Amino acid sequence: MRRVYLDHTATTPLDPEVFEVMKPYFSEKYGNASSIHSFGQEARAALDGSRDRIAKILGARSSEIVFVSSGTEADNFALKGAAFAMRASSQKNHMITSKGEHHAVLDTCEYLEQQGFDVTYLELDQYGMVEPERVRKAITPKTGLISIMHANNEVGTINPIKEIGRIAKEHGIIIHSDVVQTFGKMPVNVDDLGVDLCSMSAHKIYGPKGIGALYIRKGVTIDRFMHGGGQERGWRAGTENVPLAVGFAEAAARISERQQTEWERLKKLKEIFRKKIESSFPFVLFNAHLSNSLPHILNISFDSSKVDIDGEALLFNLDLKGIAVTSGSACTSGSMEPSHVLLAMGRDEKTAHATIRFSMGKSTTEEEIEYTVGALREVVSNVAKARA
Ligand code: PLP
Repeated sequence: MRRVYLDHTATTPLDPEVFEVMKPYFSEKYGNASSIHSFGQEARAALDGSRDRIAKILGARSSEIVFVSSGTEADNFALKGAAFAMRASSQKNHMITSKGEHHAVLDTCEYLEQQGFDVTYLELDQYGMVEPERVRKAITPKTGLISIMHANNEVGTINPIKEIGRIAKEHGIIIHSDVVQTFGKMPVNVDDLGVDLCSMSAHKIYGPKGIGALYIRKGVTIDRFMHGGGQERGWRAGTENVPLAVGFAEAAARISERQQTEWERLKKLKEIFRKKIESSFPFVLFNAHLSNSLPHILNISFDSSKVDIDGEALLFNLDLKGIAVTSGSACTSGSMEPSHVLLAMGRDEKTAHATIRFSMGKSTTEEEIEYTVGALREVVSNVAKARA
């Protein structure tokens, strides 16, 4: 059966050339990067070289990059680390985030609320964006931390982080941004964005699963995440995963090299995709900003006031045709809760349920888009019940 993968926001395949670069560090160059001998030094050089490569892409110092196991861990580390440190040093206990964040941020915030912190969850506008003025208005004398994602993983809308960063700076507040969906895909420069902390993940950019990184601006105080050895400058104890770090850096360098051309290519594809959907389904709503959004994500809902569509049936039937998509964040697609992002954008529950996220990648072709829209037409005509 033909298979079309349109779920690159959930994960991407490991680039075979990245895998080649990683391989020697599993079996031949297997030293512990903390060992003094030559085996250890070989691993240390590869680890630090990988850190340098990632730092360079971010416009950061190498010493500001900490390798972690995932984007989720980076978010946990950033928020818990900054929250506990701010309370210990300044008595501040208020944080600001948005209702559109990934669960790695939202669930961490809920945990922090249980630990006595106050959290403000900002509404999104109808396009899924966090308005800087809402951030400004939510600031209190107790606010010590703001966490707003760079681009939303479900709808692709890009947030005005630079402006939000400026507001945070004016008030002396630490700002974290989850850049998991933008790192490598668009310019992410920590000074330009004005962020103090940012979370990344390798498997979204054709790197290996199981590794991510947290950028921690020099001078920003946050608590360490793992206690034990002194690895990662004491931030995160545990023997470093050298092959995965090498793979992450290689993938990041490769995707950054062709960032602009790939952005343009995907932008054109998205426009073709959007027009085909628009002309095929009069009752479709496009979620997100059409211009200020990531070019590889196209998120659509079937308007529940015009047509009755069961989102689960839609996904199941597309899967039978070999087309892999998701109805929301991959991390929550196992449960049939309506997307918290779409609800925060003002979609009703039924419409939110009848939603598909297509996310394209470097292998996506126009012909695949053609095939997908054709398949979607068939599936929709089978599962849709028009409203009387
Ligand atoms: N943050 C965002 C915006 C994401 O899209 C994801 C994954 O979907 C994560 C965090 C979690 O990253 P990881 O899968 O590496 O834990």
